[in-house]
Amino acid sequence: MAAGPDEAIMQTTLADFLRDTPDGEEAKAIIGKCVHCGFCTATCPTYQLLGDELDGPRGRIYLMKQAVEGNPVTDSTRMHLDRCLTCRNCESTCPSGVRYGRLVDIGRQVVEDRLDSQGMRRPLRQRLTRWALREGLTRPRLFGAAMRAGQLARPLLPPVLRNKVPVSRPASAWPQREHARKMLLLAGCVQPSMSPDINPATARVLDRLGVQLVVAREAGCCGAIRYHNGDQPGGLDDMRRNIDAWWPHVEAGVEAIVMNASGCGALVREYGHLLRNDPVYAQRAARISALTRDVSELLPEFDAQLRTLAEAAPEPRERVAWHPPCTLQHGQQIRGKVESLLTALGVEVKLCADSHLCCGSAGTYSVLQPELAYRLRDNKLANLQATQPDTIVSANIGCITHLQSGTQTPVLHWIELVDRILP
Ligand code: SF4
Ligand code: SF4
Repeated sequence: MAAGPDEAIMQTTLADFLRDTPDGEEAKAIIGKCVHCGFCTATCPTYQLLGDELDGPRGRIYLMKQAVEGNPVTDSTRMHLDRCLTCRNCESTCPSGVRYGRLVDIGRQVVEDRLDSQGMRRPLRQRLTRWALREGLTRPRLFGAAMRAGQLARPLLPPVLRNKVPVSRPASAWPQREHARKMLLLAGCVQPSMSPDINPATARVLDRLGVQLVVAREAGCCGAIRYHNGDQPGGLDDMRRNIDAWWPHVEAGVEAIVMNASGCGALVREYGHLLRNDPVYAQRAARISALTRDVSELLPEFDAQLRTLAEAAPEPRERVAWHPPCTLQHGQQIRGKVESLLTALGVEVKLCADSHLCCGSAGTYSVLQPELAYRLRDNKLANLQATQPDTIVSANIGCITHLQSGTQTPVLHWIELVDRILP
């Protein structure tokens, strides 16, 4: 798909059903920024694996342009959009500032709705899988019970299921001290069951630094699972529920809303945008997004305190490979902070080759597109293992579980490592 001079700026004529709608106008504006240069294609993981222009960002933008203009959409359109990881590597590469992640959210919904209206719904099995993911993953109690059962039966499970069930680990202690400085923590929907040490470890690290983490029990899934799996209204309702749960704490003066799963952080930062047209929630959603911080963004403030604490810790430290999740490095454009922090604590940190590429986890992608997901995982693990680490660290529960399924090397959240290092 070579770019011609008349394609330098993509002119989009919205179909009647999208004209003057917020999503339609937003999609049109995003598509209009694409100059067809193709720089993004080279860094797209699915293009690298499949070599098809339509499995890269430029091709997918073309497909979405067709869809919003009312041109025919087919199963093939949906397949190429399904194969996208939403890793947003293309956004980091794009010199024109094309907000691909937002466009693909809109484009997928348009394609799905149009195919549904043409009687071309997804096959029953796909619909059931997506429904089960939406309803199962977003209910912490139900998911926790299923995870415990899966962990008991783990040795008997077929490999494809065993990969999704981490070895059982006990939750560790939550700090009991109170501090004047308070921040909220999003506990997450699957993280407490899959890796129960991450939240207490985050709370203990901040407790040592004089900050008390508070969890609003009424808050739940950030909304990503429903929003990115065919139920945008349900995802928006999850966001509103979280805003309601957090708002009393915001009014009471919490300094920040802390995220230790970068996938959740990337979405909570978008609440303000996604709810901008909601007359009841728009203002509060914007405030919530403004207060959102990945935990790696907080710690530089405490650099001197951390170094002093670390001096009292025993040597030698581990050699670790750091896998920055796409939702951290591309979705939130946060880079370098974890490496700096761990280095300051005396840890030998390595970034592997192609560290900008997705590991294949990508939310529910590893369930919905297992073949591509496992190829990406194996490529990522080969690069990580080449740095000869004692431990691999990352910042998102999905990446941690996905990577751990393919290696004996321990895979942890980096905050767990900091918690272990500090006295
Ligand atoms: S989001 Fe990732 S997989 Fe999707 S088009 Fe962009 S780079 Fe490719
Ligand atoms: S890099 Fe940006 S402008 Fe160039 S083709 Fe990709 S999305 Fe379009």
